[in-house]
This record gives sequence, C-alpha cells and structure tokens, in this order.
Amino acid sequence: MPDPVLLVRNARMYVPEDRGMADLLLAGGRIVAIAPRIEPGRGLEVVELDAAGRLAVPGFVDSLVHVSGGGGEGGFGTRTPALQPADAIAAGVTTLVGALGTDDVTRSHADLLASCRALGAHGLSAYALTGSYRVPVRTLTGSVRDDLVLVPDFLGVGEIAIADHRGSQPNVDELARIAADARVGGLLAGKRGTVLVHVGDSAEGLALLHDVTTRHAVPASQWHPTHLNRNRALLDQSAAWLARGGSIDLTTSTSEDLLAAGEVPAAEALVELLRAGHPVARISLSSDGQASLPHFDAEGRLLGLEVASMASLHASLVSAVQQSGMALEAVLPALTATPAAIWGLGRKGRLAVGMDADLLLLSPRTLAIEAVVAGGRLRTGG
Ligand code: ZN
Repeated sequence: MPDPVLLVRNARMYVPEDRGMADLLLAGGRIVAIAPRIEPGRGLEVVELDAAGRLAVPGFVDSLVHVSGGGGEGGFGTRTPALQPADAIAAGVTTLVGALGTDDVTRSHADLLASCRALGAHGLSAYALTGSYRVPVRTLTGSVRDDLVLVPDFLGVGEIAIADHRGSQPNVDELARIAADARVGGLLAGKRGTVLVHVGDSAEGLALLHDVTTRHAVPASQWHPTHLNRNRALLDQSAAWLARGGSIDLTTSTSEDLLAAGEVPAAEALVELLRAGHPVARISLSSDGQASLPHFDAEGRLLGLEVASMASLHASLVSAVQQSGMALEAVLPALTATPAAIWGLGRKGRLAVGMDADLLLLSPRTLAIEAVVAGGRLRTGG
C-alpha cells in the first residue's frame, strides 16, 4: 500500500530560516507544497496532522554514526552494538552517515552497508563511508575511487585518523592521494566525495590538513575534520582552518571522563565559534553514535564503558538555544542544511518544495521532539 498523503497544518516553519506559519503537504516521500493554507483537492485521501503551532524543522542530518557498532579498543568485551532504528528516530535523526572506526578487522564495509540498508527499511536515509581509521585505506572493491563510483551508498571516505595513537600515522602525500581519489570518484558519480577526518588528542592537531592543502591541489573543502571540540587547543585551531575555507565537525556525545579531560561541550564550542563570526554553513554537529566512551580510574585502568548516544545531537541544540540564548535559526543549520551540503545531499537538510519529506515537530517552549516524519511517513508522535 502506498504511503498516505500527509498534510501538516499550522506549523511554525524553520527551514532552517524562520519562515512563520504554514501548512506542508507531503506525498511520495517529498514535500510537494508549502503555503499559508493548503486545501487538498477532491478525491485525494489525506491524513491531517495539526502541528498546533509546533516548530517544523528539517530532520537532523548526523555526519558520523557507527551504525554497525564500534568500540573494541579495550578488547572484545568493549565492542558496542549496532544502532537500532528506533534510537535514531527518537533522536530526531532522519539522515545519517555510517562509518567504521578503529576496528576494520572484525567490522566490514559489507556489514556497514547492510546496517545502513536495514535502517533504510525503516524510512531512514542512511549512507556510508568507505575506509576506516587505517591508511592505506581499506575499501570494499579495492579502491576508494571504485567504491565511490560503483556503490551508491558510499558518499565519501572516513573516518581517516590523524593526530591519534590509534591511527596509521599517514603522511601528507598519503592523505593527498586519498582526497584525490575521493574527489575524482565523487566527480564521476556526482558526489562530493568528502573525506571525514578523525582528529585525535596529539598536539599536531590539524597541521597535516594545512600541509596537504598547501602542497597539493586538493581544496580545503574536500576534508571534514571531526572531534574538534575534544580539547581547548584543538578547538582553538578550528579558527585558522575555517578561515582557510575548511569546514569542521563538533562531537555532541560526551562523558564525565571526557569533560574532565578537557573536552569542550559541542553546544558551547558551536556558540563560541558563531559569536566569533564563523559561518554556520561550515560548522556541523554529529553524535559519533554507538562509539564507545570508556571510563578509566585514576591509574588509567578501564572501569567500564558507555555507548555514545545519538540523542546528544538534539540535546546540544537545546543547550545552545536555551542555555546560551542563541536564536534557533542561528544554530539549526549545524544539524541540518550544513551537513547535508557537506555530504552533497541535495534533497536533505531543508524544508522546501521538492525536498525529501523528513521533518520534526518541536515543542515551541522546550524544543522537545514531539513528532518525527521520515521518508514521508509519521514515524513517532503526532
Ligand atoms: Zn572518530
């Protein structure tokens, strides 16, 4: 049976810009009309959903989720489970980018693709990255370029690890080759071929990305470095990278141990960068969902671990607006239009006619997620 046509009435639209009150008509998985008052034609069966002044915002776009599970850095007992579709929907995430991490031995791209496609069966738009932390890059077909050209689900490469003891310590030329293959594969397939770079705790931070951009014909926009709020020194390096035309990603999931070790909460980091005049069009938030967040004792012994939650994405939005006093439309692009553009997802991240019908209804008072529409169908709430 085809999905019903859905008419969302009386929504306060943040597209992400504030566009005031409107009705939205959703059919065939797309937004087909937005107007102050929509009267559906006769003979058209329509399910009405009265938003009653709730805020309609684009479904969140999460740039990094370990959808097939992650972790394992403290032995097999520390592997984390695969993402459940209900957890993504409850978190307001309707589009996500799945990646491997440290473990590309027991975790495979085949399994990653299968996990993404399983999420697709629940109305989520789940894409994947080829590669892992490792260099030379592990791929599905034998090359980054072939993976991007031949496998529709692959949007780019990552997370390639730099400045981290868990990475392969790649040099400038190796990084340039990865970006070049991603760029050319992307060009051939009509994709952006973005390379997501995991930046670790080492003091060199973004130095390699600056070097590769200076010495090779790879634009700064080919890279999307993540975890840049992991410590103050790295966050301070973000300004120079943004000034060079690069984009950055801030990680919303956190733990008491990480905060004690100097992590800057993503909401605080975002507000700081925006107030300093950096463009929200080049700053995204991602959850790093299903990653392992280890707890250590004072001697560095592993006490246990938590699984990073995708709900941290929405919590960071609420925190930036309600605690830091930012306007919703100033912050919202970091979870919607910006990551959609960085991954080249032309029908995601905005509410407009012709875009995919992925949207959330938020409480105007608390910003709580009260309904989630993904792939044109109401998945929860209403
Ligand atoms: Zn990472």
